[in-house]
Amino acid sequence: MAEAVYIFLFVFGTLIGSYINVLGLRYSPEAGFKLSNKGRSHCPYCGHTLRWYELIPLFSFLIQRGKCRICRHRLSLQYPVVEILSGLVFVFVPMKLGFGFPAMIWILAFLTFIVLSIIDFRFKVIPNKLNIFIAAIGFALIGFYYFFGGLGIFGEKVGGTSLGSYALIFQFSNGQIFINYAAGILFGIIFFGLLYFLSRGRAMGFGDVKLAAAIGVLMGWPDGAFALILSFVVGAIYGSTLLITHRKKMKDSIPFGPFIIIGVTLVFFFGYHMINGYFKLFNIY
Ligand SMILES: [Zn+2]
Repeated sequence: MAEAVYIFLFVFGTLIGSYINVLGLRYSPEAGFKLSNKGRSHCPYCGHTLRWYELIPLFSFLIQRGKCRICRHRLSLQYPVVEILSGLVFVFVPMKLGFGFPAMIWILAFLTFIVLSIIDFRFKVIPNKLNIFIAAIGFALIGFYYFFGGLGIFGEKVGGTSLGSYALIFQFSNGQIFINYAAGILFGIIFFGLLYFLSRGRAMGFGDVKLAAAIGVLMGWPDGAFALILSFVVGAIYGSTLLITHRKKMKDSIPFGPFIIIGVTLVFFFGYHMINGYFKLFNIY
């Protein structure tokens, strides 16, 4: 029975994924999200209007072996990849959080992350609207935890964390919810703001600093801080690999937004296990 629910959620997620593709591909830095200008979906190469059976997520791509039915031009792998990712979001977020308000917020967050990554890869910009949206749903989540969230060991209001009992070690003020989230936001602004100013905008853009602040709102302390530190580590490893293998030069820029998303995703799904493994490695606890 539970399996049927998750299969349904996955299929529903792939449908939302096709819309996510449209959102990401119809964005331009000049015009923003223009969704009504083109009407029905069409092949980007020959312009032929797609029939209903060419719009079935994953299925159409597989049947047509990744090519346009009319002009046989190879279609971007982005279509099926985004559809699969959206499907997985609808399965794994409720698996972790159950079916409730926090799961709804995190599904919205991950879908926004996918749109944001598509746009950052294409234009190396992060639209303000997306950062504001992430911060807005983050504030909604803080409100939810404040009014309906659990109580900590001192009877104080606590927010959500993916770090389990390890969150306690890093918390100050006994995990008072507003102080935790303020710390998360401040950490994002200071850590990424410093990287931005010290590298004079070369390590990352100001859009990344705003995204870091929005992640602070969504995750609070210490989760947000871990996610941002992790994104910096993953980005640095990736960047130096490209430099060493001569596939990029020092002055080339790579979009940083997707690394922040990777950091958030790792902490959200594996935060507890990563810290647990780290402590086990050094025989602490
Ligand atoms: Zn075509």
